[in-house]
Amino acid sequence: ITWTKGQGWHSATVKPYGPLTLDPSAAVLHYGQEIFEGMKAYRHADGSVHLFRPNMNAARFNRSAARMMLPNLPEELFVEAVRQLVQIDARYVPEAAGEHSLYIRPFMIASEAFLGVRAAEEVTFLVIASPVGPYFTEGVKGVDIWITDEWARAGEGGTGNAKCGGNYAASLIAQYEGYEHGCTQVMFIEATGKDRVEELGGMNVFLVSADNELVTPALSGTILDGITRDSILKVGEQQGLTPVERRLSAQEVLDGIADGTFTEAFCCGTAAVISPIAGFKSKKGEWRPQGQAFERTIQIRDGVLDIQYGRAEDSFGWLDKVA
Ligand code: PMP
Repeated sequence: ITWTKGQGWHSATVKPYGPLTLDPSAAVLHYGQEIFEGMKAYRHADGSVHLFRPNMNAARFNRSAARMMLPNLPEELFVEAVRQLVQIDARYVPEAAGEHSLYIRPFMIASEAFLGVRAAEEVTFLVIASPVGPYFTEGVKGVDIWITDEWARAGEGGTGNAKCGGNYAASLIAQYEGYEHGCTQVMFIEATGKDRVEELGGMNVFLVSADNELVTPALSGTILDGITRDSILKVGEQQGLTPVERRLSAQEVLDGIADGTFTEAFCCGTAAVISPIAGFKSKKGEWRPQGQAFERTIQIRDGVLDIQYGRAEDSFGWLDKVA
């Protein structure tokens, strides 16, 4: 779908997957005016296909658009575009077995050919999709997290709560620093001396306390408000945990893990659902939660997946049947 200033959204088309034609001066290639979403379609045992909370993605997409001076896309149009693509590609939504799904990537780019820093007057919204397998192919395993105190993902007043490509480009250097220390993910803390736990490169972070609190950093305006994060807070509460959104410092997290205040830690996002954290590493040392069986973590993970795959009652009304 194309948007042109003065005209609004027009020219919706469905095309076979293939290369895009872009003018070499397209603003997105130079000034990064771009946003995206990540969501999945799940097949249930009865063959039906469902989206998970698509209105949350549509609303977040518009918050990202507003931050990046991109036009608002009516929520109905966003959801309708996603639904139509999934219906057309329904045969590519894998069978329910083993956490397979159809990954969907809606995105918006400044397609106007214009070299200059101003909001683009022509913009393109696209949706692509691909079948994906389980995140963990050999059972759910704990990952090691690198805490970077050098690199920030996004600062206050920045673009941290927008899902824009530049955030991910900026996080790569820290991600690679983590790889060098044997970690698969990196955790950002506010790197301006404030020591505030934010999130990982592409996931939010949670801790489970010995007294059954489910703790996650509050939405400070610098982190992404993950849809999995929100779902976990609600499923966790249903399972008897107390959801707590508050400021957390890395020092508090590591001390809490060392003294057993926090027994489990995990990270979450659409791709992995929930990934248990086996340990945190930083330049100062290494910390491992006591609960390496990840009992609560697995229980919450199963709770969310059971709703997504239709194995449990959709008591929150999160599913949107599309095929
Ligand atoms: N934080 C960041 C930076 C992300 O890229 C993602 C993935 N979209 C998340 C958190 C988790 O968000 P969600 O649960 O909506 O996938």
